[in-house]
Amino acid sequence: MSVRWKPDDIEEEARERPTTGRPFSGGHLMLVIFGLSRKERPLGLIALGCAVCGHPGPQSLVHRRTRFTLFFVPVLPLRSRLETRCPQCGTTRTITRTEARRLGADQTA
Ligand SMILES: [Zn+2]
Repeated sequence: MSVRWKPDDIEEEARERPTTGRPFSGGHLMLVIFGLSRKERPLGLIALGCAVCGHPGPQSLVHRRTRFTLFFVPVLPLRSRLETRCPQCGTTRTITRTEARRLGADQTA
């Protein structure tokens, strides 16, 4: 068994329903702004050659952090890592703190 609606019935029902002109009548509209923040802090140069292009020179070391932000305020650290970047080809590689110290990085790294 199926109920068939005629277009006239739908229009009539819409006309009978009272409207306030607001999309959410009686409630509160809440706006939450959240996202991710990525920051890079340079930590100097380390003595490491590039495995991709073969550039022998030093590579820059950066501390890259990703944090969850609520209303543009960082509230939760999600990821923290040390990365080297080749000045020749731009290849990045994640390394450990121990490896960074061994390669001559600053002690604050
Ligand atoms: Zn390279």
